[in-house]
Amino acid sequence: MNKVTIVGAGPAGLFCAYQLLKKGYAVDLYDQSSGVGKKFLIAGDGGLNLTHSEDIEIFSTRYGKDEAFFKKLLTDFSPQDLRDWCEQLEVKTFVGTSGRVFPSNLKAAEILLNWLKVLKSYSEFNLFLKHKLVGITADKILSFAGDIKVQADTVIFALGGASWEKTGSDGKWKEFFETLGIELKPFLPMNCGFERPWSEHFIKKVDRTPLKNILIKVKNRKIRGEVMLTPFGVEGGGIYTVSNVIRDFILEQGKCFIHLDLKPDWTKEVIIQKIKSKKGKESFSNHLRKTLKVDKAMIVLLRELTDASKFENPEYLAEQIKNLKVELFGIRPISEAISTSGGVSFSGLTDDLEVKAIPGMYVVGEMLDFEAPTGGYLLQGCFSTAWRVVEAITRS
Ligand SMILES: Cc1cc2nc3c(=O)[nH]c(=O)nc-3n(C[C@H](O)[C@H](O)[C@H](O)COP(=O)(O)OP(=O)(O)OC[C@H]3O[C@@H](n4cnc5c(N)ncnc54)[C@H](O)[C@@H]3O)c2cc1C
Repeated sequence: MNKVTIVGAGPAGLFCAYQLLKKGYAVDLYDQSSGVGKKFLIAGDGGLNLTHSEDIEIFSTRYGKDEAFFKKLLTDFSPQDLRDWCEQLEVKTFVGTSGRVFPSNLKAAEILLNWLKVLKSYSEFNLFLKHKLVGITADKILSFAGDIKVQADTVIFALGGASWEKTGSDGKWKEFFETLGIELKPFLPMNCGFERPWSEHFIKKVDRTPLKNILIKVKNRKIRGEVMLTPFGVEGGGIYTVSNVIRDFILEQGKCFIHLDLKPDWTKEVIIQKIKSKKGKESFSNHLRKTLKVDKAMIVLLRELTDASKFENPEYLAEQIKNLKVELFGIRPISEAISTSGGVSFSGLTDDLEVKAIPGMYVVGEMLDFEAPTGGYLLQGCFSTAWRVVEAITRS
C-alpha cells in the first residue's frame, strides 16, 4: 500500500490525512505537540470562521499577490466544498450576516472530534504525537528529536506559521528548510495589532473597548470594521484586514497614519447639525454621546487626538469625527498575531505545491508564503492547498 508521511497535525495536515485515507493510502502523521489541531481549537474560541460565502472572484482577491493561484485552488476545492465536508463530519454550517461561514455551534471542537474519529477508524492511520521534527535531508530522511529517523517516500509538511507558539506553530522549521536550499520569505505578523503611545488618562478610561462599524482609511484602502482600542494602541477585525498595509508602512517609514471615519453613515453636515442641537446645562460630552449615539470611549478617543481648544467648535469636531488621524508607530509582536506571512516561497514549488528540487516533498497550509485577512480566508487557504496536494499525490 502507498504510504504518505505527514508532519504537522493542524487543519492542513489533518485534512491531507483524511483525504488520503479515503483514497486508500496509508498515513503516518507526526506532530511535536501532545494533541492535534491546537491552533484550530483556539481559532474556535471567538467563533470559528471557517470560510466565506462570497463569490470566488472576490474571494480570491483576498490573497493579494497570489490571487490568480488561489482562484485555481478555490475552484478545485471551494468554500461550498468545505461546507459539504463539514456536513460529512455531521457538523452543520451557517452563513452569518457578514457572509462569513461558521459551524452551527461556532466551535472547532466538534469538527475536530468527528474528524479524528474518522481518521482513527482506519487501521492504516498512525498518529505520532510528541515527535518534534528537527531535520530533513534531500533524500527525505526525517529526523525527530530523540534520534528518531524516518525514511519517507512521499512527505507532506504542514508545519504552520510562526505565531501563537504555545499551539506548536513555532516556525522553527525555517532553519532546516533553509539548509535544504528551499527558498523562504521572512516571517511577518499578519492580522495583528499596532502600537501608539496613549496618555495615562486614556489607558485608564478606555482599557480594551471595541468601536464597531468604523471606516478605516489607509493608503488607497477603505474598510469598514471594528477598531479595538487597547492600552498599547489598536487591533480588531477592521485593523486586521488592512494590517499588511499598515505593517509595510511602519517597516519602511517607522510609522503609519490611518484615518478613521467614526460615523460613516452620516455626512459631515448632519453631524454639525446634531452637535449644534445642544440645549440646556447638559455637559458637552454627554450631549455628544446622546446625539451622535456613540460610546464613551469614542469621546475619550476624540479628546485624546484633537485640539482641546477647538473641541466644542461643531465644524472642527465634525471634521475630526469624519477623518480622525491616528498615528501608529509599532507592530505588536509576531507571537500575538493571528497569522503570519512569509515561509516557503511559491517560487520553489510546482503548481501542485511540490518542492521543485525534491520530488515527493510537498508543502501545505500556513507555512506557505501567503497572507490573507481574517474572515475564513486563512482556513480555506489551508484546506484548498491540502486538497491540491492530495490530488497531485493520488493522481501520480
Ligand atoms: C486566535 C486565532 C484565531 C483564529 N481564527 C481564525 C478564524 O476564525 N478563521 C480562520 O480562517 N483562521 C483563523 N485563525 C488562523 C488559523 O487557525 C490558522 O491559519 C490555521 O490553524 C493554520 O493551519 P495549519 O494546519 O497550516 O497550521 P497549524 O494549525 O499552525 O498547525 C501546524 C502544526 O505543525 C506542528 N509543528 C510545527 N513545527 C513542528 C515540528 N518541528 N515538528 C513537528 N510538528 C511541528 C504544530 O505543533 C502544529 O500542530 C486563527 C488563529 C488564531 C491564533
